[in-house]
Amino acid sequence: MKNKIITSQEKTIKYYGKPLRVRMKGREGNQYQQYYDNKEKKWVWAHRRVAQKMYFPKSKIPKGFEVHHLDEDRENNKRENLILLHYKDHRDLHKKKALEVKRL
Ligand SMILES: [Zn+2]
Repeated sequence: MKNKIITSQEKTIKYYGKPLRVRMKGREGNQYQQYYDNKEKKWVWAHRRVAQKMYFPKSKIPKGFEVHHLDEDRENNKRENLILLHYKDHRDLHKKKALEVKRL
């Protein structure tokens, strides 16, 4: 079946020195990393949670914004690798690579 959701096997990585249970999830060819939040007892999108804590510690990521991996490695969810983009810019970036994006 095309476009089915795939979930990879869990593994434990070190994130800023601490162990973290992670897995990849998403449509074929479009998977992002999730980590297991022990407090909330659920899987969360790692890149969105990291960016939310960094940019909006007291609220949510505003509607219409997505989180992009600067080095294009979706398993590299370190703060310095993540930036917020409007979903249209994000889509264009992946389609045409028209935008050059870097951290200021
Ligand atoms: Zn992206």
